[in-house]
Amino acid sequence: NKQILLASRPHGEPTLDNFKLVQTELPSPAPGQLLLRSLYLSLDPYMRGRMNEGKSYASPVEVGGVMGGQAVTEVVESNHPDHRVGEIVLAPIGWQEYALSDGDGLQEIDPSLGPISYALGVLGMPGLTAYTGLMNIGQPKPGETLVVAAASGAVGSVVGQLGKLKGCRVIGIAGGAEKCRYVNEELGFDDCLDHRAADLAGRLKAACPDGVDVYFENVGGEVFTAVFPLLNNFARIPVCGLIAHYNATELPSGPDRVPLLMQNVLVKRLTLRGFIVSDFAAQFPQFLEEVGGWVRAGRIKYKEDVSEGLENAPRELIGVLRGENFGKKIVRVGTV
Ligand code: NDP
Repeated sequence: NKQILLASRPHGEPTLDNFKLVQTELPSPAPGQLLLRSLYLSLDPYMRGRMNEGKSYASPVEVGGVMGGQAVTEVVESNHPDHRVGEIVLAPIGWQEYALSDGDGLQEIDPSLGPISYALGVLGMPGLTAYTGLMNIGQPKPGETLVVAAASGAVGSVVGQLGKLKGCRVIGIAGGAEKCRYVNEELGFDDCLDHRAADLAGRLKAACPDGVDVYFENVGGEVFTAVFPLLNNFARIPVCGLIAHYNATELPSGPDRVPLLMQNVLVKRLTLRGFIVSDFAAQFPQFLEEVGGWVRAGRIKYKEDVSEGLENAPRELIGVLRGENFGKKIVRVGTV
């Protein structure tokens, strides 16, 4: 049984030395337990935060512990009354090939809804994040301008397509010409701007002649700096992620911009609201029905970026934090 452990805590950008691949005995299920075999492991930006010490909204991974995360798994042995061999379940088993479970935290996956790996993306946590953050906090209205950061990714791609379905003018921001072309031409956003090219602020201003009513924040940093002056009165900003800062070890230098931010919050009556997807867990059935329907009808498109082999998960997580993934990052751990 291959496992990947957190070997040490990173300082700044993680390196391969922060992870350790080990081989352990295949565990055997006790009465009431099941043995799960991992098929697909999800790699997500939040995993960077779990590598740090100290409490966030969730506890960190212990040094020497198995890296955490959700996987699509198959039940291969069962001593549990509610689960049978061959079932496909979403399970929080982390970065390992096999794991025991007592049934806690398992979620059955209905293969008729789409490919089973979609439970890690558009029909799972990232999709729910996009849907609930946009609908509850962003509250998009027809004719409004919605700007979406990390627009080609798991969350951003769904946010923008939902915005189009709600009648908004949608501008994406992504890294590189290839991602922007995909967002623009295949996902059907009105435009997509490359944050790695010069003068993002100027190009964004030109792309948003009526200002910005909803900004779905996934990134922070220079992307937020470009959007900030364009926010309209009563703009809503679901603060979903700040990936540009996840590897930071200290605050940036320069003038203190907090007073400017707060002045704008006041004068423009901005709503900035942070959220964690679990805040809206109760909306999962409604999300699955609505977004699942649009995915099956081809009205929401979805792209996966699949790597082979658990041993490559560390390299691939480092890549997600650098913007090397193109679509929802998953690792194929075993074959169905
Ligand atoms: P993505 O599939 O979008 O992958 C991450 C992307 O972030 C990269 O591909 C890259 O895209 C972009 N990125 C990385 N570094 C930078 C940078 N310095 N500046 C600008 N962009 C950068 O990931 P997800 O869709 O899974 O997650 C998107 C965001 O949503 C993250 O911030 C994540 O933490 C957050 N999130 C929050 C949740 C919540 O409950 N609040 C739940 C799930 C996700 P590019 O090449 O386009 O720059």
